[in-house]
Amino acid sequence: MQIKIHRGINQIGGCVTEIKTKSTRILIDIGSNLPNSTSKVKVNVAKISKKCDAVFITHYHLDHIGEYMQVKKDIPIYIGEQAKEIFTIYQKKMQEPKVAEVTQEHIDRLETFKTFEQDVPLKIGDMTLTPIRVNHSAFDSYMFLIEAEGKRVLHTGDFRTHGPSGETIPKALKEIGKVDVLICEHTTLSRLDEVFMSELMLQKEAVDLIKNNKYVFIMCASTNIDRIASFYHANEEAGKKLFICDVYQKEILDYVTKTSKKYKDYYNFSNVKSFDKKFYQEMLDNGFCMLVRSNYFSKRFINSPNFKDNIFIYSQWLGYLQGSTADESIVKFVPKDYHYLHTSGHATKEGITEVCNIVKPNVIIPIHGENSHDFEKLKLPYKTKHLKNKKSYNI
Ligand SMILES: [Zn+2]
Ligand SMILES: [Zn+2]
Repeated sequence: MQIKIHRGINQIGGCVTEIKTKSTRILIDIGSNLPNSTSKVKVNVAKISKKCDAVFITHYHLDHIGEYMQVKKDIPIYIGEQAKEIFTIYQKKMQEPKVAEVTQEHIDRLETFKTFEQDVPLKIGDMTLTPIRVNHSAFDSYMFLIEAEGKRVLHTGDFRTHGPSGETIPKALKEIGKVDVLICEHTTLSRLDEVFMSELMLQKEAVDLIKNNKYVFIMCASTNIDRIASFYHANEEAGKKLFICDVYQKEILDYVTKTSKKYKDYYNFSNVKSFDKKFYQEMLDNGFCMLVRSNYFSKRFINSPNFKDNIFIYSQWLGYLQGSTADESIVKFVPKDYHYLHTSGHATKEGITEVCNIVKPNVIIPIHGENSHDFEKLKLPYKTKHLKNKKSYNI
C-alpha cells in the first residue's frame, strides 16, 4: 500500500491524501488552502483524481472539500449524509451575488455526491473503508479506517475529544485496535498556549452571560452545529428568551433537528425562530439571543438604539479577527468591545495522545498542523516512527 500526502504537511488545511494499492486508488479530502494561507503547495486535483476509483470527504470545511469541482464527473465523491445536505444549503447561500463564486453547476455536482453510513464498511476495489463519526466544529465529520493488502491505516480528518460526544471517539477506536499507520491532524500542537475548555464548560459560561445581559448577539459559524447547540441549551437553562436567527440558519437547524432524533434532544432546535416582525415587541421587552453574521440583516439589530445595552459574543477562531489571517468583513463587523467565548474544534495535545495510545501506530504521518516536528511534544510511551516532512510512504 502506498500513501501520498499531496498537501497538508506543515500547513493547516488544504488537505489532499492519496492511498493506493496495486489495483485501487482513492483520495481522502480535496481541500483548498485556507484564505490568507502562505502555502505554496499546488495540487492538481483534476489530474490526480482522474486515476482514482473514489474520493472520500471527512467533513465539509473548505480546507477539506473546497476543490470538489476539479474532480472529474464520473469519479464518485463520498461524504456523510447530513454533511452533504448542510454543505448544499451553505453552498446555495453562497450563490447569492457578491458572496462567493458558486454556480448552479456546483449545486448539480453536489447532488451527485454519494453518502456513507457511520461504521458501515464500504468496498472500493480491494480496499475496505470504514467511516467513524467524530466530533468537530463541522457536523457529521468522520475518521476513516482503510484496510487493504493486510494493512490498516487510520486517517483522522479533523476531530476533538473535548466536544459533547467526544468520549465516543476513544470508545470507537478501542474496538478498532492497533493500526499500522496513523495519518493524524495536529492543529493545536503549535498553539499550546491557547485555553481549551470543553464545549460543556463553554455552555456553562454562556448561561451566565445570557442571564446577565438582556440582548445577546452571538457570532459563530453557521455550520458549527455543536456551538449553536451550546448557546441554545445555555439559553434554555438561562430562562428561555427568544432564540432568533435568519432564514438561512433556520433551514440548517430545521434539517439537523429533523435528522438527528437518535441524539435525543441534543440537536433539537425546534424553539429557534427565524426573525419576524411579530417578535419585535417581545424581543424588546424580554430580551433575546440572536445568531448573527457579517451582513446587513445582523447589523440592523446590532446598531439599533433599541438594543443598545447588548453583549456581542464572538465565538469562533480569533485568527479571523486579528493578525495576518484576519478577514476584513469580520473585522469591520465585530464591535470593539466584543466578549470572546470559544473553544477549538481540534483535538488538544491530550486528545491526540489518547488516540495514539489507543491505536498504537507503527508510523505516524502528521498532517493539518503548522510544524510536523511539534508531534515530538507528545512524548508517546512506546516506539513509533514519526514521518515529519516525508510526503510519500510505502507500507
Ligand atoms: Zn481542517
Ligand atoms: Zn475542519
